[in-house]
Amino acid sequence: MTHNQVRVRFAPSPTGPLHIGGVRTALYNFLFACQHNGSMILRIEDTDQNRFVEGAEDYIIDALKWCKIEFDEGIHQGGNYGPYRQSERKDIYHRHIQQLIASGKAYYAFDTPDELEIMRESLKARGETNPKYDYQVRAEMKNSLSLSGEEVEKLKAAGTPYVVRFKMSENEIVEADDIVRGKIKVNTATLDDKILLKTDGMPTYHLANIVDDYLMKISHVIRGEEWLPSLPLHYMLYEAFGWEPPKFAHLPLLLKPEGKGKLSKRDGDRLGFPVFPTQWIDPKTVEEFNGYREDGYLPEAFINIIAMLGWNPGTEQETFSMQEMIKAFNLEKVQKAGARFDPEKAKWFNHYYIQQKNNDELADSYLTILKKHGHTTSKQLAKRIVELIKERANFIHDLWNQSWFFFESPKEFDDKTIKKKWKQDTPEILKELRSLLEAVEDFTSENLQNQTHAFIEDKKLGFGKVMVPLRICLVGKAAGPDLMEMMEILGKDEILKRIDFALNNIQKEHNN
Ligand code: GLU
Repeated sequence: MTHNQVRVRFAPSPTGPLHIGGVRTALYNFLFACQHNGSMILRIEDTDQNRFVEGAEDYIIDALKWCKIEFDEGIHQGGNYGPYRQSERKDIYHRHIQQLIASGKAYYAFDTPDELEIMRESLKARGETNPKYDYQVRAEMKNSLSLSGEEVEKLKAAGTPYVVRFKMSENEIVEADDIVRGKIKVNTATLDDKILLKTDGMPTYHLANIVDDYLMKISHVIRGEEWLPSLPLHYMLYEAFGWEPPKFAHLPLLLKPEGKGKLSKRDGDRLGFPVFPTQWIDPKTVEEFNGYREDGYLPEAFINIIAMLGWNPGTEQETFSMQEMIKAFNLEKVQKAGARFDPEKAKWFNHYYIQQKNNDELADSYLTILKKHGHTTSKQLAKRIVELIKERANFIHDLWNQSWFFFESPKEFDDKTIKKKWKQDTPEILKELRSLLEAVEDFTSENLQNQTHAFIEDKKLGFGKVMVPLRICLVGKAAGPDLMEMMEILGKDEILKRIDFALNNIQKEHNN
């Protein structure tokens, strides 16, 4: 039973914030684990000390929590296969490297950076376009294959810096399987003797990754396409240890909205969409980058957006809850071709999810936004306003853009609309309408509708002639939700005040 168990891992390096592509990798792993009743593991790959970024680990955990991507084992929960942070597993890697050295599959190399450079230059001079440390040069270099055992011991005793390299087979066809890409064949002659242990005593990604995936009993490795070129090496490492490799799936690249080239942070800046799930503050430069969360995206919209970048169910369905995604997701249907990120479609998803949210929840978010703008209101009224305006909101903050006039009276009036709609007779009509409104006792939208309609008919005026100027008085421009509902919420006094203010101010401008 255990060998059939699905165990997947998300293995980020804490070198900065997670970007959309990283979240997608985590999401696909999560969906796959859930649909197979498997386990999802969070492993932190922090063997590259030079690239370590303060706060990145916490960022990754918090951002995934916001996305509701959960783990069964990992640095925070623990589990039976820990430690889950690679920097705490050094002795494990050393033991495994020793094993490879003992079996002749790896060797010590003492070459200095200068010596490596000389090797590369001389290969280039011989016409080699891709000079590398491989079976053709290893005998000429300073390593435990070319030196005697005694010399090696002496160098080590003298504290000479060294690395451990993998002794790649000379001429073997590696056949690697990938769930997304099918079979991949590579001749090992094209591969180099990769470093497994660095001079700082830390393993490289390749060694640590393979050892951990094996020891943590990972059944499926689902990761970004950038790791595809490493797959043959990983297969060879599994073989060198005598281990069965897991199954692999390499996820397609995320492409720029234009469709060409890898999506980058700069595209986000250029086109005004975030590339990080949540806000990231660079600890060195203290530069702030907004995330989807801060830009008003709902987490359910965000995960739906990224789920569709590289996978689709083959039906018309586009919107999926997490549960629906878990059911419908199919790793075999992940596409090979790069997935184009479409910021407009992202907005569409968010709009959809805002409409799905119940007014009670939306009202809570709305009250938070109101507070930021220095206002407050009852939950009941918040719900009512949200119901009126949510259809126009792509983002949570749009709730404010679409409703500020319930809390602040307009101080400026839109020139264009005034030029078009504020006619010679408008002040007179508004004055009459004002008197009528002042006399209304039952200030409900229904009654207001009846009264204003009767007024319009009675005066034989067009609707636009009355309603647009009234709207200008209340909102400052021809915008906003249903006018009658708006009037009921604003209340009589406020409306009269706004009409007076508009009459005074717009008049003045016209007289000038
Ligand atoms: N630490 C690697 C990364 O940052 C993980 C790659 C893998 O999943 O094997 O992408």
